[in-house]
Formats: sequence, structure tokens, C-alpha cells
Amino acid sequence: MLDAISKVPRHMFMDSGFIDHAYQDKAFPISSGQTISQPFTVAFQTQLLQIKEGDKILEIGTGSGYQAAVLCEMGAKLYTIERIKELYRKTSSFLPSISYNPKKMIYGDGFKGYLDEAPYDGIIVTAGAPVVPENLLLQLKINGKMVIPLGESVQKMLRYKKISTNEYDIEDFGDFQFVPMLKDKI
Ligand code: SAH
Repeated sequence: MLDAISKVPRHMFMDSGFIDHAYQDKAFPISSGQTISQPFTVAFQTQLLQIKEGDKILEIGTGSGYQAAVLCEMGAKLYTIERIKELYRKTSSFLPSISYNPKKMIYGDGFKGYLDEAPYDGIIVTAGAPVVPENLLLQLKINGKMVIPLGESVQKMLRYKKISTNEYDIEDFGDFQFVPMLKDKI
């Protein structure tokens, strides 16, 4: 996983004003008031997903595409959803231009998930969710995992493992801070 992170050129995902900071372990602004996650957080969430090459993964919050690139680098078949049209447009053309090719980038509301390709081996939410989106749990395979920062101003990093159609094992991996997961696309 660290190998995948070291291969992704983080500076290319950042606005020119921040390029000198690209390899610091900090979050930075991208357009539309959003942030590119801190490398530690990307590594942490990716590790919690425990993906294998070829796994079908759904990401909520495409943003800059940095987390998406790490997942592609690890051989995930990736579906990723973004609610801000400007970011969706920018990242949909940027990622393929540096040879990262998610199966599909979707402009939509991550609370709904993406039923067309469900069920998923893993779901990764990269915005702070006020509640656990029921649709996402339904779109997980049995034995699939969802990694989600849950909470309002501070989030708890939770991992849901689906053990049967309506049973989950839930683990808590401590406090993080994310931009909020908001309803409906804009
Ligand atoms: N994974 C991104 C993180 C970006 S920050 C990266 O590596 O850069 C979180 C992103 O989640 C923002 O782009 C925000 O617009 C998006 N987001 C927030 N609520 C959402 C929702 N309901 N559906 C889809 N995307 C959402």
C-alpha cells in the first residue's frame, strides 16, 4: 500500500499555490472549498479497506482524485462519486490524463451509492458523514467492508464488515477531521 502511495505524484493533484507543500503530511485546499486528504489519512483508510487486486470498490467524494489514484494504483476496479459538478468535471478529465482509469466517475449524491454496479467488495467514504448511509450498507457484498468517518465536527473512523444481509461488525479506529458529506449534487 505504501508502495502505491509513493507512486502517485501528489503535486499534480494540487493547485499551483500549494505545490511546494505537496509532500507534507497535511490536507490542502482544492477548488470549490474542498480539500485533498492528508497522505496519512489516505494511507490509513486504504489500509482499513484491505483490498485485493481486482476488488470492486466504491469511493464517495472523488475530490481531487488523489485517493482514487491510490486505489487504481493498487488494482481496484473503482467507481467514484462526486457531488460538485466542477470537481467532477475537472477530475474526470485529469485522472485519465495521468493514466489512472477508474471504471466510472459519477456525478451524483454519494448517500445514494451507485446501485448499477452493486454489490461492492469495499466502500470508502472520504467526507465526514453525519449518519451512516443505509444505501451504502445495502450495496456491500457479504464480507465486504465500508470505511467511513462518522460524525459532525469530529469524525470517528469506523469500519463496517458485513457478516450477513443485515448484520455488521463495527470497529472504531479513532478521531479524524473531514469536510462534511452533504446531500444532493450541486
Ligand atoms: N477523496 C478526495 C477527498 C476530497 S474531500 C481526495 O482524495 O481528494 C471530500 C469530497 O467529498 C469533496 O470533494 C466533496 O465535494 C465530496 N462530497 C461531499 N458530500 C458528498 C456526497 N454526498 N456525494 C459525493 N461526494 C460528496
